[in-house]
Formats: sequence, structure tokens, C-alpha cells
Amino acid sequence: MADNSGSATGLLAVIGGGVIGLTCALAAADAGWRVRVFDAGAEHRAAWVAAGMLGSLGEGHPGEDELLALSTESVRRWPQLLSRLGGHSVLAAADSLFVAASSADAEHLDTLADFVWARRPRAQDDLRRVGPTEIRRLESAVSSRLHSGYLAIGEGAVDNRRLLAALREALLAAGGEVIERRISDLAELADADDILVAAGLGTSALVPEVSLHAAKGEILRLRRTTWSVPPPTHVVRARMHGRAVYLVPRQDGVVVGATQYEPFDETAFAPDVGGVTDLLSDAVDLMPGLRTYELAEAGAGMRPCSVDGLPIIRRIDERVLVATGHGRNGILLAPYTAHVVLDVLRGAAGRRTVGATNASDAINQGVSR
Ligand SMILES: Cc1cc2nc3c(=O)[nH]c(=O)nc-3n(C[C@H](O)[C@H](O)[C@H](O)COP(=O)(O)OP(=O)(O)OC[C@H]3O[C@@H](n4cnc5c(N)ncnc54)[C@H](O)[C@@H]3O)c2cc1C
Repeated sequence: MADNSGSATGLLAVIGGGVIGLTCALAAADAGWRVRVFDAGAEHRAAWVAAGMLGSLGEGHPGEDELLALSTESVRRWPQLLSRLGGHSVLAAADSLFVAASSADAEHLDTLADFVWARRPRAQDDLRRVGPTEIRRLESAVSSRLHSGYLAIGEGAVDNRRLLAALREALLAAGGEVIERRISDLAELADADDILVAAGLGTSALVPEVSLHAAKGEILRLRRTTWSVPPPTHVVRARMHGRAVYLVPRQDGVVVGATQYEPFDETAFAPDVGGVTDLLSDAVDLMPGLRTYELAEAGAGMRPCSVDGLPIIRRIDERVLVATGHGRNGILLAPYTAHVVLDVLRGAAGRRTVGATNASDAINQGVSR
């Protein structure tokens, strides 16, 4: 990510030490800015609970053409970010396996694949249909009763918590600062030349013209025991009788996710029993050996969603810019976002990525991440 082509222009204050704030901060530090990150703490950070999937092919939901294009662009930028974080084993899986439990589930996957193939001519090479035998060859511990699926090559995942630690470490090594402090008013940052507000859902409180809403998601962390089958080596994204569930490998187990719905209360961070029950039931149907794993953590997070489902990356005034609204894709879109933020900081026209899709539509389609 190191990039010295732009002229450094003083002190950049970044509000938010989630995946977006830290990735942008690191890119700016590499490009010569003095960077100071202010963060209110990890307690309700979406990036802390997330699964860490880097999906573009699997994120190809009909109607979300622009999101597919941005995701593809960001996936292209991920190897550079990983190599910038060198030495940190943040990669959790290299490829994804999409599987369907029934013929109706398979039809749903076919629709997604047709959409991606129509928009990405070369996607035929990266996304190919697989039958039950090949599914079991790729992942021997998944259910023997699966109907069919797709293998998405190069659609991997990172360990989100290791990623956050690696970003922070790289930023500090590059001369940046991270200060644990909630910012209540931008006026508190009078000494900053530029201010990037990347505070996830907290952005609207600081920049009221940015409109966001939450999409809540339950997510589980299961730990392997001595008696357990090993975790999968792919991200396994399943459609189980109309419901989506995924398994993302970790060194010590698997992340099972995730529900997605509009919460009555955006401050209710406790996981709902219904969401946890559905995830557990679908996960053990998908991979029966998970019964011997320990339920290490049941959590929930609020995805920061924009009105049209696309990230908001733009200048607000001469000193302030925002990067937020990444919804279900903030980890995936982090390198792309950092690239656009640098452009905006360097004086390229303030821009907002726009699109046709409404975030609520995505939620109502049952898109799960
Ligand atoms: C269950 C679940 C699963 C997910 N899975 C994936 C996935 O597999 N792949 C993917 O790409 N995305 C995933 N996401 C989405 C992803 O987590 C978010 O898009 C991403 O975390 C947004 O990043 P952010 O930095 O904008 O916000 P956050 O990660 O929420 O970070 C915001 C930070 O700002 C700080 N902050 C807020 N207000 C202030 C303030 N006033 N002053 C100082 N600091 C402040 C907070 O303390 C926090 O640390 C998932 C989300 C959920 C909930």
C-alpha cells in the first residue's frame, strides 16, 4: 500500500479505529500524512464481530451491479494490503464453496451465478458449478445430502480480529498514533488539517447530513476440541432450505454467520435467541461434526448501512471527509475505500459512490453477511 506519489499535507485526524478508519489511516501515513486516530473503543465495533469474508463473486446479488464492480475492484487490491501487513497471518481462507441443500436452494444459487457471469465475462473461470461428489472431495466434513454448489476461486476471507491488530501495529510502526477517545464534536480537532470521519454508525452523530441505518446480525464463534473434525479449509456459504448460513475457518475453529435484519433498537447489541438458534441449527445441518465444537462466543453487531447500499466516501467541506456506510462489506471494501480516500485527500473531486440498490432491499432479500 505504500504510496509516495501524493504531497503530504500535515495532520490528518481520523475518527474511528474500525477497519475503515485504520486502513485509511495506514494508507495516509504511507503517503506522508501525519495521522492521529481517535477511537471510542472496541465494544460495539462492527469489524470486531464480523466474519471477514472477501466476497465479490458471492456478493453478486441481482440489482447490485455497482456493488459488484466495487467489490471486484477491492478484491483486486487485497493482496497489496496483505503484503503491506506482511508477517501477519491474517488470511483465513483462499477460496469459497457455495452449497445448496435442496433444488430450490440450488435455483437461488444459479440466479446469483447467472447475474455474476453476465456482468463479469471472466467470472466463468473463477466461479464454476460443482456437484455433490466434488463438494465432498473439497470439504469432506460437510453433509452428504447437499444438492449442488459453486466453487469461487480467489474469494477468500481474513481473520477480522488479527486484521485489526495488524493494521494498528502497521500504523504505529509507520509513525501514526491511536488515541482511545470518543469525539463528540469536530471542533475538538481544531489542530487537524484534515479530518476523516470513519466512525461507522457513529458517523451521523458527527456529520448529520450522512444518513445511515443499522442492519443487525447475530454471529457465532465455535472452538474445535480434541474430538472434533477439523474446520473447513474453504469459506462454506450455504443456502439451507431458504436460509443463508456460512462457515468461515479460523485457526482454532469456525465463525458461523450471520443473520441480517433491521433492529427495533440500534443500541440492542445482545444477540437474539432466535437468531442464535437458527444459525446453530443450520450450521450443524451443514456440517454435522460441529456438534462436538464448543460454543465459544455468541455475538451481534450493527452493520452501518447507507440508503442505497453503497459506501459513502466523499468530502463534506474543505477540512472534513467521510468514509462510511459499508453495510455488510466493510472488510472487503477497505482497500478500495482507502484508495478513494487518498484521492479525495489529494484534492481529486469529492465523490460519492452511487448506485441503484436500496440497502433495505438487500436486507429484505435475505442477503446475509
Ligand atoms: C455479523 C456481521 C458480519 C459481518 N461480516 C462481514 C464479512 O464477512 N465481510 C465484510 O466485508 N464485512 C462484514 N461485516 C460488515 C463489517 O463489519 C462493517 O462493514 C465494517 O466493520 C464497517 O467498518 P467501519 O470501520 O466503518 O465501522 P466499525 O467497524 O463499526 O468501526 C467504527 C469505529 O468507530 C468508533 N467510533 C464511533 N463513534 C466514534 C466517535 N464519536 N469518536 C471516536 N470513535 C468513534 C467505534 O468505537 C468503532 O471502533 C459484518 C458485520 C456484521 C455485523
